[in-house]
Amino acid sequence: MLRIFLALLLLLGLQRTDASHWSYPDRDLDEVFPSWGGICDTGTLQSPIDLSITKSLKGVFDELKLDNFEDKQSGVTVVNNGHSIQLANFNNEMEVEGGPLRDEYVVEQVHLHWWSEHTINNVRYPLEAHIVSRNKRYANVTMASNFKDGLTVIAVLYHVSNERNEAIDQIVDYLDDVKDFDKINEPVRMKNPFVVRQLFPKLNGYMTYSGSLTTPSCAEAVTWIVLSETFPVTLEQVDNFKQIQNEEKITLKNNYRDLQKANNRPVIVVLPLDKSVSDAASPLQLSMGTLFFMLIAAKLL
Ligand SMILES: [Zn+2]
Repeated sequence: MLRIFLALLLLLGLQRTDASHWSYPDRDLDEVFPSWGGICDTGTLQSPIDLSITKSLKGVFDELKLDNFEDKQSGVTVVNNGHSIQLANFNNEMEVEGGPLRDEYVVEQVHLHWWSEHTINNVRYPLEAHIVSRNKRYANVTMASNFKDGLTVIAVLYHVSNERNEAIDQIVDYLDDVKDFDKINEPVRMKNPFVVRQLFPKLNGYMTYSGSLTTPSCAEAVTWIVLSETFPVTLEQVDNFKQIQNEEKITLKNNYRDLQKANNRPVIVVLPLDKSVSDAASPLQLSMGTLFFMLIAAKLL
């Protein structure tokens, strides 16, 4: 009997150290957030964090460009990976460039967190979409995750509304097919074309910072771009995601990671460009430009 008990203990111990077996706490039971090990526990640039405009630094970058996001993608797959619902297999390559990014990034997958991982001014949202893109310098996501500039994730937060979100409904349509634990990692192909751009609103500014993946390996390889404008979703829509089962047949009520320490990391806020002001250089911009030139000249002398 004791031997069986010890064997069971050993088995449980082994499961805990296996990187593929990680989970979220049941927040109804006030479970402590589990330790995921490695850099998840020891890193200093972990995500998510609370974002606040008053604590952010103002930034002005080149325009953030989303290429081919309006394309109708056919044959997009929906999968329950045991931790989230993920869309992949985009046959028209989508790219992200500009903004804080120095390179071109290609979209690899889109997945959802219910409730949001990032908070804005300590307020949590009911849903957050992550559009994960890989720096084209690196051959795949695993390689890219070894580099600080390896990945960029565009995060879209959704606010509670009475208005159903059409793009989210297109995903909800497939949840019954993938929600059960025995369907984990079995992708289902969408019958209708899916337009990724419909998942989020106008690009009305964003907040950007250097962080990590919010799931193991927690690689500190992510340039986060969290859109300032949020998009509507109904609580009924979000409830559909709470039926998803994980490997232990437990329903995934929530799949958001606890907030991580900011560690004095700069969060840069990029406000929407006011065309009427930017087209005709304002006196302030001119004087700032002149000042900058004088500073450079002073350095050179
Ligand atoms: Zn995510």
